[in-house]
This record gives sequence, C-alpha cells and structure tokens, in this order.
Amino acid sequence: MPDYVFPPPSLTCLPVAGGGAFPVRRIFCVGQNYSDHAREMGSDPTRQPPFFFTKPADAVTCGPKVPYPPMTERLDYEGELVVGIGEAGADIAVETARRYIFGYTVGCDLTRRDLQADAKKAGRPWDMAKGFDCSAAVGVLHPATEIGHPDKGSIRLLVNGEEKQKGDLSQMTWSVPEIIAHLSRYVRLAPGDLIFTGTPAGVGPLAAGDRVEVIVEAVTAHKFTIG
Ligand code: MN
Repeated sequence: MPDYVFPPPSLTCLPVAGGGAFPVRRIFCVGQNYSDHAREMGSDPTRQPPFFFTKPADAVTCGPKVPYPPMTERLDYEGELVVGIGEAGADIAVETARRYIFGYTVGCDLTRRDLQADAKKAGRPWDMAKGFDCSAAVGVLHPATEIGHPDKGSIRLLVNGEEKQKGDLSQMTWSVPEIIAHLSRYVRLAPGDLIFTGTPAGVGPLAAGDRVEVIVEAVTAHKFTIG
C-alpha cells in the first residue's frame, strides 16, 4: 500500500435493492433530453445530438436530508431516471448497450439555476452550477436482472406532496441505449459510472424545508428534505 500522506477518501456507494453496495466512479448527465424541458429552457426542442456534463462522484447523496447549497438564490430540482453502469466499454452499439447496464434508480439533478444562467450568458462552464457538494441526490439502485429495462412509464417529481413534474420515460429524445452509445464515443464507460438521463418539463425552485419525491414506477421512490 502506498504511504498516503493523509487517509484516502472513502468510496461513494449507492445501496442496491436486495443487498450490496454500488461503488460510484463518475457521474455523467444528459442535458435537455425531453423536448418539453428543452422548450422551457429556451432551446431548440428538435432532435439535436445529446450533450453531456458531469458531477464529481462524491456529489452523490442518498440520505433523507440534503443541505441547501451556498452561493445561490435559485436551487432547482430536476427529477431523472438514473442508470448505473456495470461493465466497461467504448464505442458501444445501440443494439448491445443494455448489456453494460447494472441497474436503475431515480435521482434529482440539483442545479444552481442562477449560476447556470450566468454561465450560459457568459459562455462559461456550468460546473459550479451543477457539480457542487450533495448536488446528486439518488435512491436505491435496482439491478436490471430484477426489474428489466424501464423505457416507458411515468416519471414524476413532487414537492411537499404537490406534483411539479410529470413525464413519461418514452418521451426521452435519446433513449438510454442511445445515450450510452453516444457517451461511450467520448469516454470509455466503466463499472460504477452513473448516468442522469435528463428531466421532463416543470423544473422549479426549492426552499429549505421542502420535501422532494422522485417517482418512477419500476424503482423505489427517492425522498429527501432540503435541510
Ligand atoms: Mn438534469
């Protein structure tokens, strides 16, 4: 073992339904993958090639409390289906992409929307708008061997019990296999990678004390409170 000058960080893990822990390697996110959300963000809703951004692995938070982050006055929710990769691969074909999937969960791509708007205006990177501490709230991962590959069915996000987002997984501009095929041309995917697959319309702000629920039929709902 190397003579570490301080203790190395512990791995970020997701609980797996049925037991076990999924060690998180990287977090990739797809931008504007539902046309109604692209429209609400003022973008071209026609089928453009997908684009990606990232969050650090240790931005993952699975707990019931998520802190309100600093440096923002506009924290937005984005409810999303999240894919966990279980096999390494590059230049993956759409037809074989599902083989690389370990499982699925739901998550919230928390966004400092005011910083993102400033970055967009200035042509600057989004990192501080998207990749802050505890910005990736995610639930229990369900193995695809148990639940199959959800490609339709509702995706909903509730704040304090009120439905704020409602879409259907079949409305994704780019399907999960297509996302994996595209992303794996840019990077070699590896076990532990998470992919946030985009959010339907209805994004909006959160305040301290808000209770958030992200619900996709095939997987356990993820609930947390902004603390
Ligand atoms: Mn998102």
